[in-house]
Amino acid sequence: MKIFIATKNKKKLKELERILTPMGFDVLSENDFNTAFPEVEETGETFEENALIKARAGLKNTGLISVADDSGLCVDYLNGAPGVYSARYAGEPADDQKNNKKLLDALDGLDTDKRTAKFVSSIACVFPDGREFTVRGECKGFIAKEPQGTGGFGYDPLFISEKGCFAVISAAEKDSISHRGKAIKNFSEKLKEYL
Ligand code: IMP
Repeated sequence: MKIFIATKNKKKLKELERILTPMGFDVLSENDFNTAFPEVEETGETFEENALIKARAGLKNTGLISVADDSGLCVDYLNGAPGVYSARYAGEPADDQKNNKKLLDALDGLDTDKRTAKFVSSIACVFPDGREFTVRGECKGFIAKEPQGTGGFGYDPLFISEKGCFAVISAAEKDSISHRGKAIKNFSEKLKEYL
């Protein structure tokens, strides 16, 4: 059975492929089609809405079962910001370093116990027969007072998880506790129920 992954992000595609191929799916992405699909505007107010918007666009473009994800960082002191605006927190074009600086400035002088935050990942799956579902994974931690490490991407240098800073721990360690790792596990379990 064919399944379409609506992402341009190669890392996300690989992660989902690792789960879906052993389940017997033939995994396709935009590269497998001879046409460029229109840009999708992420106008949702929640991660779930944005993931669904992207997955529905995938279904419309391909006619196949389609999967998409949306993720971001929610900081308690900032009432959940940057949230769905995580990628473009410091404006467009998206810039990780500027985003991290803006976040540090917003939390300037704040004690560690008030710097709590969580990463959230939502994965949506939509079927040609109209069925839809979303799953979510979360990873709690806090925001460091200065960047650490050289690994990862996005807010990783500022995010301290139970296993340490996301930009310092190995990719395997991050996957084992990360929002995306948990969402992908929930996704594979839920998908089995739907098949
Ligand atoms: P998107 O899900 O590709 O739209 O990503 C949203 C944004 O959230 C990214 O650009 C990052 O800024 C942030 N983000 C999501 N997941 C992570 C992560 O695992 N580490 C660091 N930043 C992340």
